[in-house]
Amino acid sequence: MSKKHKHFETAVIHEGYDSKEMLGSLTTPLFQTSTYTFDSAQQGERRFAGEEEGYVYSRIGNPTVTVLEERIAKLENGERGLAFGSGMAAVSAVLIALTKAGDHIVCSSGLYGCTFGLLTMMKDKYNISHDFSTMESKEEIRSLIRPETSLIYVETPINPTMKLIDLQLVAEVAKEYGIPVVVDNTFSTPYLQRPLELGADVVVHSATKYIGGHGDVVAGLVVGKKDFLDSVAMTTQKDIGGVMSPFDAWLLIRGLKTLAIRLDRHCDNAERVFEKLRKHPKVANAYYPGDGRHPDYPIKEKQMKRGGGLISFEIKGTKADAQAMLNKLSFLKLAVSLGDAETLIQHPATMTHAVVPEESRNKMGITDQLIRLSVGLEAWEDIWEDLEQALDQV
Ligand code: PLP
Repeated sequence: MSKKHKHFETAVIHEGYDSKEMLGSLTTPLFQTSTYTFDSAQQGERRFAGEEEGYVYSRIGNPTVTVLEERIAKLENGERGLAFGSGMAAVSAVLIALTKAGDHIVCSSGLYGCTFGLLTMMKDKYNISHDFSTMESKEEIRSLIRPETSLIYVETPINPTMKLIDLQLVAEVAKEYGIPVVVDNTFSTPYLQRPLELGADVVVHSATKYIGGHGDVVAGLVVGKKDFLDSVAMTTQKDIGGVMSPFDAWLLIRGLKTLAIRLDRHCDNAERVFEKLRKHPKVANAYYPGDGRHPDYPIKEKQMKRGGGLISFEIKGTKADAQAMLNKLSFLKLAVSLGDAETLIQHPATMTHAVVPEESRNKMGITDQLIRLSVGLEAWEDIWEDLEQALDQV
């Protein structure tokens, strides 16, 4: 956290923006422009040559987007932030920047379905192979690293199984080999977990989720060292072009202001709903990293402030029973995505992780009975009442 704003709750509101520089406007102005005028041909030349600071074109930079990038960089305790048009645009820009044909990636044995899809495409098109690792011990990670391994890619908590990976342990192994660690911090946000402080090199986010928080924007963010992000900005961001629109940045700046208080409420609700859920007779297993009985709880204690707002659970029965339960919900929303004010519930095997072949899905622990619940900001008693009546009918 910067010296200027020591507390996270203050930084989410103020970091990266000074109203005095913007005619006293309390909120960040929306610079809804695609391009910027130059005072002279010479000034245009200097700006393109990088000899004079200033905006030239909104795919390369925009003042509203800059505020968001500076704010997220401070919140993650990194040197620079970059904003993208989606979480997958952020993930792909980083993975393409860090690899070349023939390279190899070690990744956590559980990944968001489209990240899995991207890795499969990279393998088929560019012979960039990957191996999955539970990352439970240093030996296990070391055994998968090859001379051509160019990075370690980690999701923790893992989507949707809620297993955790010890980020410090992974970073220590990566340092031995001089390779970077990239962490998808979507589920936790910097309020609950800051991977860069634990030794990771790059953090990626689907800002569509808790950072936006209101279900009205699809966006991605990356934070890391300035040198690396400068090179991403001038290559896989500028030339592939998956940038964030100024309006989406404006919405995210607004969403971020309440991140800390929203996350606390998400966690409070998740803790209470989980306690009820795990005892319901129709529930075979329930997983929540904030639960003291979770096998990875010691890792949670080490690296996460609280357990987050996501729970997954397995219904006793079949895929049809899981789907029947979802169809019985009255006001909880059957939808993918997570981190919104509304409680969202989905069936990973046929929705977010449908692209993952069945064999890999089973290895990842994504069974046909598994349901993922993103606990929203409603009264927890109402959330539970709806879940309970749907479970009772299975
Ligand atoms: N990473 C994780 C953990 C996700 O859950 C998602 C989307 O659900 C993504 C990345 C991709 O983000 P987006 O949908 O914003 O492209």
